[in-house]
Amino acid sequence: MRCAICKKKAEVYLPHHNLALCREDFKKYFLKRVKKAIDDFKMFEKGDKILLAVSGGKDSLSLWHALLKLGYDVTGLFIALGIGEFSERARKIVKEFSDKNKTNLITVKLENEFGGNTLPQIVEKTRGIPCKVCGKIKRYYFDRIAVKENFDVIATGHNLDDESAFLLGNILNWNIEYLAKQLPALPEEDGFKKKVKPLIYLTEREIAIYAFFNEINYNELSCPFSKKAKSHFYKESLHQMELSYKGLRIKFFKGFLRNQKIFGKAEKKYSLSPCKICGYPTSSEICGVCKIKINLGLIEEEK
Ligand SMILES: [Zn+2]
Ligand SMILES: [Zn+2]
Repeated sequence: MRCAICKKKAEVYLPHHNLALCREDFKKYFLKRVKKAIDDFKMFEKGDKILLAVSGGKDSLSLWHALLKLGYDVTGLFIALGIGEFSERARKIVKEFSDKNKTNLITVKLENEFGGNTLPQIVEKTRGIPCKVCGKIKRYYFDRIAVKENFDVIATGHNLDDESAFLLGNILNWNIEYLAKQLPALPEEDGFKKKVKPLIYLTEREIAIYAFFNEINYNELSCPFSKKAKSHFYKESLHQMELSYKGLRIKFFKGFLRNQKIFGKAEKKYSLSPCKICGYPTSSEICGVCKIKINLGLIEEEK
């Protein structure tokens, strides 16, 4: 097979676009897709300060690489959760990436924030659900650091597979509220910075190929807490459908983006006000993270 652009030997075939590409033209194609998502949804511009949530997995590291290649001002934010070998590998890989690419990295160590407790210890002591506790804590630090350090926007590595699986789940369960706010770019609001997903036009496979072609070393271990969630099931179902209907996923997701307005504006259920301990926007008096700290005996609840 020949590259559709330069006619040299193709190394990749993308069935959903019926496109064969050589290594160099695939890299260019990938960057173009990232740039298109950024521009289509006015995610950010050159000169904006971007805070990128990095886990050490292929999505966030490939996005970091692509944003640097495209000339954006991006800083990685890594949260060291303390989940044994998984977190230790991730930490090393992220550090290596930032050293090699001479880019800014902020690391938050949970143990330093939670009186020596790692995520598994926090979960055990507060009898929480691991993914919920982890999500809450990570969001808190992304939001806070973005505000404190004056970033314009928070970027995450969600890809087409993630977003279309999420969409399928939301449609099957008629989560209108989620459909109304499943946007590739969420505006700055209520004391939270703007949030964007520049990889929405790229599949997991394309991202893995980009990482491979650019020799991006990433953490292949998966989190020991992440069980076979419903989202895996939706992802798998879409993969199966894609086998007999090429391009279904991108069609499904792009069609949603075009028609997203029919779900209306997300209704606000709660009004947010600053947490009376730390100032983080919350719907109750004390935010979720401060509640965890109270629960662990690290801070006292004001009377
Ligand atoms: Zn080529
Ligand atoms: Zn708080």
